[in-house]
Amino acid sequence: MTSKDRAIFLDQDDIPKRWYNIQADLPEPLPPPLDPETHQPVNPEKLTRIFAKELVLQEVSRERYIDIPEDVLEAYRWLPRPSPLYRAYGLEKFLKTPARIYYKWEGVNPAGSHKPNTALAQAYYNAKEGVETLSTETGAGQWGSALSMAAAYFGLKARVYMVSASYRQKPGRKIMMETWGATCYSSPSEYTEYGRRLLKENPDNPGSLGIAISEAIEDAVTHENTKYSLGSVLNHVLLHQTVIGQEVEKQLEIVDEVPDVIVGNIGGGSNFGGFSLPFMGKKLKGKLDARFVACESAAVPHTTKGKYTYDFGDTGHLTPLLKMLTLGSDYKNPPIHAGGLRYHGMSPIISYLIKNGHMESYAYPQTAVFEAGTIFARTEGIIPAPESAHEIRFVIDEALRCKKEGKEEVIIFNNSGHGLLDLAAYDLYNHNKLEDWEPQEFSYPNLVNG
Ligand SMILES: *Cc1c(COP(=O)(O)O)cnc(C)c1O
Repeated sequence: MTSKDRAIFLDQDDIPKRWYNIQADLPEPLPPPLDPETHQPVNPEKLTRIFAKELVLQEVSRERYIDIPEDVLEAYRWLPRPSPLYRAYGLEKFLKTPARIYYKWEGVNPAGSHKPNTALAQAYYNAKEGVETLSTETGAGQWGSALSMAAAYFGLKARVYMVSASYRQKPGRKIMMETWGATCYSSPSEYTEYGRRLLKENPDNPGSLGIAISEAIEDAVTHENTKYSLGSVLNHVLLHQTVIGQEVEKQLEIVDEVPDVIVGNIGGGSNFGGFSLPFMGKKLKGKLDARFVACESAAVPHTTKGKYTYDFGDTGHLTPLLKMLTLGSDYKNPPIHAGGLRYHGMSPIISYLIKNGHMESYAYPQTAVFEAGTIFARTEGIIPAPESAHEIRFVIDEALRCKKEGKEEVIIFNNSGHGLLDLAAYDLYNHNKLEDWEPQEFSYPNLVNG
């Protein structure tokens, strides 16, 4: 390649052949998930009632590398992977910064985000184990659409519980799911006991990710040959996403760069985990000296204001307890436009890394976020997902700091998806009608050893 190439491509043969498991390299084992009844470490056997067996094994594995099955590699080629790494020449020029900025572009596949990297793997293991239907939840619809596409690819049915507010506001994602052959319900729905109970109390319940998770789990345990699938938070989800970071390592080798700052957004932690954990493994071994920066919404400040404690993953309290940074499982997420960042908790892996000072985190209000997204669109062409615009806010501020201090830092970030189904939010921003939301009141569950 020449020094001015904008995009750095890899061959399809360069798709990583193994997923990287950070659990092998953490200074200590992660606190285990607890059984909500006994408060003892949950028996993995019990988890196989809702998840495919192989995924449960991956969840608790401490093997450093896990081979990617040939059928999943083929699905990654189909997607297609590898995705390009871009040098942000346009943004650098606009900011007049000496920093060199690179971003991984995960919006190029048909679902438009990083989520198919785990959706395809999860659909594969379920199909292999004889499962016929996958149930899941979705907020703004990115996960539901990725899983619907993956289910179609592996010949499975999918039932998706979509947060009611988004179901009404974002019909585009629902249409995508149905076109890929999935069934999409507005959540809370009439199709589960939990949903019926909530609708009876309030027929206009706007729903939440926590409620939709409870409905999808109930669906899995009450239907034959149905398993549940989660799009973020859990260790096996972050594991599958490490194809992103491993590709970036190869792409940076081609341009002979070493990152100083590694940035991403965090909803449940999967895209930033997948992007950054291969680098984090090197940092933990003393082989890389870089800052790791996670960006979240000021309206859902789970890692900047949350507490590190055991909490439920869902509102109906069906999941095991996870030790994580959380705002409490009944946190009322304000209706910010970055739907993927509206979740009360955070991946136990990312929570651990932030809590122990290996990663920093920052929270931004959405007006500042959309300003960054708009600058990016005008300089790089890509209209980023509102989630991705969170880290772009940090990157812009950091690049300006480099200018002030005359520093040539290498900043890399994960551009997790496109914003082409979030245009109504850009419309509000463009016409000065976008509002900011304060974080809501929150209280912590009084569960296990705080
Ligand atoms: C779902 C989503 C996110 C947030 O979820 P993570 O699990 O934290 O990655 C971020 N960006 C996009 C484009 C998404 O679809």
